[in-house]
Amino acid sequence: MANNKTFTMIKPCAVKNGHIGAILAKINEAGFRIVAMRMTRLSVSQAEAFYGVHKERPFFNDLVEFMSSAPVVAAILEKDNAVEDYRKLIGATNPENAEEGTIRKAFAVSIQENAVHGSDSDDNAALEGGFFFASSESYTADGIEVLD
Ligand code: GDP
Repeated sequence: MANNKTFTMIKPCAVKNGHIGAILAKINEAGFRIVAMRMTRLSVSQAEAFYGVHKERPFFNDLVEFMSSAPVVAAILEKDNAVEDYRKLIGATNPENAEEGTIRKAFAVSIQENAVHGSDSDDNAALEGGFFFASSESYTADGIEVLD
C-alpha cells in the first residue's frame, strides 16, 4: 500500500526569490497537509549527505554549493498517494520540460535551481523526512487539535 507522506524542500533559489508563500499555497491547494515544517540552512556536509546518491555525478559539487548557499524550507506533507502526486505537482527536474501549472514551471530558474525537492519513493520520503525531523516534530491529522 502506498505511503501517504512525502518530503519536500523549498530550495535556496526560491527562498531568495521570495516564493515560499506562493509555493506553500500551491501545496495546500493541491490537497497536501503540512505535518512538519522548518526553515533551516544546510551545512556543506549536510547537503553532501542528503544528496549522497549523486556523489559521482558531474554536477554534485555545484549542487552541494547551491543547496548550502542560503536557507531552505523543509517539510513533510501528507495526502493519499503523496509521493506520486507531489512529483506530478512539482514537474520535471529540468524546468524546460515541466508542464504548465507545475511548481517548477512557475518558479524554477534552471535544472539545478529548480525551486523544490520532492521525494521519489516511499522509502526515500521516510529517510528524507527523518533527516530533518524527529517524530515528535511531526503532526499528523490525528495530532492536531481543530479549533471551532
Ligand atoms: P529530482 O528528483 O527531480 O530532484 O532530480 P534528481 O534526483 O535527478 O537530481 C537532484 C537534483 O540535482 C535536481 O533537483 C537538481 O537540483 C540537480 N540536478 C539534476 N540534474 C542536474 C544537471 O544535469 N545539472 C545540474 N547542475 N544540476 C542537476
